[in-house]
Parts: sequence; C-alpha cells; structure tokens
Amino acid sequence: MMRKILLLGAFLCSFSLLAEKPKSKNFLIFLVDDLGWQDLSLSFADQKTPWNSLYRTPNLEKLAARGIKFTHAYANQNCTPTRVSLLTGMNALSHKVTSWTFQKDKNPDEGGDLKFQVPAWNMNGLSPYENKNSIHATSIATLLSENGYATIHAGKAHFGAYGSPGENPKLHGFQINIGGSAAGQPASYSGMQNFGNKTNGAPNDIRAVPHLNRFWGKDIHLTEALTQETMRVMDSVLIHPKPFFLLFSNYAVHTPIQPDKRFVQHYYDLGIDSTEAKYASLVEGMDKSLGDWIDYLDKNKLTENTVIVFLSDNGGLTDVGRGKNGRNTYNTPLRSGKTSGYEGGLRIPFVVSGLGKKGSINHENIIVDDVFPSILQLTNIKPKSKIQHVDGLSLVPIIQGKNSNQNRFFTWHHPHMRTNGSPDIQPFSAIRQGNWKLIFFHKDQHFELYNTRTDLSEKNNLFTSLPEKGQFLAKKLGEKLRSSDSKMLIDKEKQKEIIYPF
Ligand code: CA
Repeated sequence: MMRKILLLGAFLCSFSLLAEKPKSKNFLIFLVDDLGWQDLSLSFADQKTPWNSLYRTPNLEKLAARGIKFTHAYANQNCTPTRVSLLTGMNALSHKVTSWTFQKDKNPDEGGDLKFQVPAWNMNGLSPYENKNSIHATSIATLLSENGYATIHAGKAHFGAYGSPGENPKLHGFQINIGGSAAGQPASYSGMQNFGNKTNGAPNDIRAVPHLNRFWGKDIHLTEALTQETMRVMDSVLIHPKPFFLLFSNYAVHTPIQPDKRFVQHYYDLGIDSTEAKYASLVEGMDKSLGDWIDYLDKNKLTENTVIVFLSDNGGLTDVGRGKNGRNTYNTPLRSGKTSGYEGGLRIPFVVSGLGKKGSINHENIIVDDVFPSILQLTNIKPKSKIQHVDGLSLVPIIQGKNSNQNRFFTWHHPHMRTNGSPDIQPFSAIRQGNWKLIFFHKDQHFELYNTRTDLSEKNNLFTSLPEKGQFLAKKLGEKLRSSDSKMLIDKEKQKEIIYPF
C-alpha cells in the first residue's frame, strides 16, 4: 500500500514538474523598412511633435500599452547592415556589411567621386558559409530551427546580394520564406501590377516580389497581401506543437511611395503634399497589419507566451522620393535621416511586448545587435558549435532593471559615398556612450560631439569646447576601429586609407 502511494506521489510529482515546465516563447519580430522615429502617433520624444499628430498608428500605441517603449534604440544607417546585425548579433564594425547590398561582387555605392574611393567591404552581405565579400555567420533562425522552432520569414529579406547564397532566407535557417529575396524594395506595392511580376513573357523587374501569385491582378496593397498570406501559412504552422519565430518584415514604408488606398484619402483631405499623403498611408497600412497580428495572437491565445519586437531598420528617409518641400526635415527634431550618422539616420522606434512591465518607458541606449543575444537568453539555447563573436548584449537585464547600458559603447561605421545631395549624409564612423555621441567624418577628418539629451537636434558641436570628452571618445572610436580592422575611406591621390581617429 505504502509503495503504491509512493509511486503515485512520484508520478504526480513528475507530472507536476512536466506541467510547470514553462512553454518555449514564441517570437514575432515586426520589422518595418525605413520607418522614421517620428513617423508615428506614438511619441518617442519627451514631448509630442506635429508628426505624432499627423500619423495614425493606433495599433503601435496599443502594443506600447501592453509592453515597453524604448526611446533610445539604434539601428545602422541603412538596410542590409541592420538586417545582418539583427540575424547575427554582430555590430557593423565586426560584420563589415557597411552598406546595402545589390549585385554579387558589385559595389552599389561607387559614386564616381574624384577624390575618394570606398574601401573593401562585405558587399555580398551575410553568407551561410565561407564566401567571397561576405560575412560568414550563423543566423538566429538557424539556431532556433535546430532547437525545435518553426522559423518563418515573410516580406523583405535583403540579407545578401543578387547571385550570392545570402539572398535566400532559407539558407539562413528560415524553414518557410514568403516574399523575401535580394530586393531592397518592391517593384510595386500593387496587386494590380502583380507586385512587379510580368505575365506576358517579358523579364521580371529584379525587385518583383515572389510567392504572392494568388493576389496578382487583385486590387490589394502589398502590405495587406503579405499579412493575409503569412497568416494563412501560420494557420498551418500552428497545427504543430512547436514554438515559432516569425520575422514579419514589411516592405513598407520604403520607396516606391505608392498609396495604400484604404487610408490615403484622409491625408489627401488634409491638403498636405501628395507624396507625403501617400507616405502616411503606407505607415497606416503597416500599422493596420500590426493590429491584425495583435488580434491574430489574441485569437489563438498566444499573446501571453509571445514576445513581439517592433522596430525599424534605419532612420526615416528624408531626401529622394519624399515630398520636396520638407526635404531633409522629415525626422525633426532629429537631424537628417536614412544613411546619415546623425540621430535621424540611426535612431529607431522600438517597442517590445511580452516581457517586463506593461506600459513602461525605457530610456537606456540599445541597438539592433541586442535582439540576437536576447532571444538566446530567453530560449536558453546554447549553440552546439562555435559561432561568430556576438557584440550585442541581452536586453533581458535591461528590461528587468538589473543592468544599465550607461557606460557601454555603441559604434557605427559607414565609409560609403551615397549622399543623395543631402549635406548631412557623409561617410562617417561614430561612437556613443550615455548621452554623448561623437561622429568622425571621413572626408575632411573633422569631429562633431553632441550631448543628445540636452541637444537632441545635434546643433551645438561641443568638440572644441569640451576637448577632454571629445578626445576620450575619439580615442575609444579609434581603438574600436583598429581592433576590428575596419576599413576607412580611401584618399585616391595618396592611394591610401585615411587614418584612424587617434
Ligand atoms: Ca531600410
């Protein structure tokens, strides 16, 4: 009798252990392309701005009410560098994919400048194996896939150049790919235009969006088609008792700025520049998709166990493609925009739900490199074989208030020539610690130092008036560039790279 009771006790005990084992967390990374820090009704600045009154993103407000809003989150200055950092946890100084990728072994940023030349960089992007002009690294999707996760990529990939292995999301551990390729933008947002796919035998635009054939010829916006198709696929993924990792990567709000008809009339009625009205409709369509995903998780009772990370891949576009009247001012109070080393190019909207205190605001500096180690910590996954050195740090202790990033150094590197005629878009390297940021401009090797807490718009260069602070950061930046063997812009006349700062 006693033995039976003991056995029953042991059984119940093991059963309760099983029952108490926490379920593995699901992850929805909701990535938006080129979304500026001010392109939202949710304010990320200390005070609401006119931009927050113009744009309508109620679903992001809802997500922030359920989660944590980060006011000092950073990405790289343009697309592929951030996407590689997101998948690998590496900083741009380490992975050396320092600009956007296009065609294999071709530099899209040559520029034809008479005095300067872009140095060697990993212009083929991320590679799942050793390959020329590429960073070979293990993606978070590969690690999750190896550890029992369903891994899904939807939307814009842009991890590697056309013709290189990195262009295919499936080689980076995504079991399913919906609509991702080497393209950095869609050929068309319109289902009526088959998202750029030709049906008359003519060759496709290389940026034609793949896999969405069932929406061809229909009056549907790409954002909506991608959302519907991904949900249809997720319905079948959820049949299996597996946790999931979904990278839902919006093509919106990147150019071409084609209107989302569901939302554009409101902005036309405001009488604003028609390009800006169309842009605002792309933003609102993206937010509608976010709301659909929030509802989808609620409906499937997955909200509690799913971490949602909402972020952009760089600062908002402010020049070519945007309305002409406000050129270079679309991110105010931040200075400049996409591709710039000023805050407008680097600071991004970032919201996390499913962790931490609901409705909280966090002012710590964080960077996209941190997503990879955060997921590893939350899943307790230890890579079986050696992977790349991860520069990012887990956000979990930051969210728990157990750690601070105040003394941590953050770095950027962009020795590239595309300026689009914007004065504040220049080849640069930069470093940040606490409220202080130093930018080193490669062409004339001058420094700019800002306290972005007191001078958010980076108007007051303190490099000369605060020499100690300036030289401390310049020395640190020099150390970081030197130790990572980062390549600087090449002076054509001298046929050598410009020297490191200190
Ligand atoms: Ca982008």
